[in-house]
Amino acid sequence: MSAEGLLTPVSRDWQDQLRESFSNGQALLDFLGLAPADVNMSAAAARDFAVKVPHSFARRMLPGDPRDPLLLQVLARADELEVTAGYSADPVGERAGAIARPGLIHKYRGRVLLVVTGGCAVHCRYCFRRHFPYTQNVNGRARWRDTLDYVREDDSIDEVILSGGDPLVATDAHLAELVAAIAGIPHVRRLRVHSRVPVVLPDRVTPALTRALTHPRLQSILVIHANHANEIDAGVAQAMAALRAANITLLNQSVLLRGVNDNAAALADLSEALFTAGVLPYYLHLLDPVAGAAHFDVPASRARALHRELAARLPGYLVPKLVREEAGAAGKTLL
Ligand SMILES: *Cc1c(COP(=O)(O)O)cnc(C)c1O
Ligand code: SF4
Repeated sequence: MSAEGLLTPVSRDWQDQLRESFSNGQALLDFLGLAPADVNMSAAAARDFAVKVPHSFARRMLPGDPRDPLLLQVLARADELEVTAGYSADPVGERAGAIARPGLIHKYRGRVLLVVTGGCAVHCRYCFRRHFPYTQNVNGRARWRDTLDYVREDDSIDEVILSGGDPLVATDAHLAELVAAIAGIPHVRRLRVHSRVPVVLPDRVTPALTRALTHPRLQSILVIHANHANEIDAGVAQAMAALRAANITLLNQSVLLRGVNDNAAALADLSEALFTAGVLPYYLHLLDPVAGAAHFDVPASRARALHRELAARLPGYLVPKLVREEAGAAGKTLL
């Protein structure tokens, strides 16, 4: 394939698009007309956690802008190599006791989280899962039946959350089978999916996917993950419309990231863009103190001030809850 062909894939099939994603920073920078020194790119950081960016997401970046808020989320940079006290590989304690069965995390009352797949469609540099031992915890198709017995045996669980990695990189057939099995557990009433795929790869949202994620016995909720208004383009809006038409409740969670969205105007624009696309803001997370992401941190005091500013300029339903995840807490901690 010609270099030009690599830069402008014509395929709309989501699996082809995944395969065609940028897998090195240099190709992404070439696409944007930037030099490595402009952005402090680091090959060592990329070896630690590979670069992965769908073209669909890269096309929403501003060419020539080294501070583009989407680029900063996905490009491996030298800042990641800095070792910062208090930043660890497992900041939220997922490996410490919350794993009830392989691939099943039961941390909060009434809700369990299933690790459907270890893969993601994009690699977000701030993600606490960059060090997660997926291979030991991914629910293979053969194993989830056994895993679901845990849910079957605990009737206090009324919500099952599909997570990952990113659950929407799984195939439609895998998801449909899993959802049907979950729907077969009488006390489960809600199915929630947490995914960044509808934002970074909106072509993943097909009629077959919306069918797979809905079931007459369950209320379906999809929590997307967008951090900046520039992520919500026409393709995302179209995907959201299709999901809403299938009666799926749409929420968004964001992470507060220095240099990306740490000002009230950016956060307000994001809430407005989400609502225009039919999505309600749910959570604004403080960064998990994960090794390699300290340069994204916004101190809690500054986060509170931003949140107050946001509340002063937006209707209440457009103000996400400001939360932090703490190991051992009964739920997300409200700030
Ligand atoms: C965040 C999270 C949930 C869901 O929490 P909500 O406050 O209901 O959104 C459930 N399980 C785990 C392990 C989580 O990290
Ligand atoms: S789990 Fe979510 S935030 Fe983390 S790398 Fe995957 S898509 Fe990004």
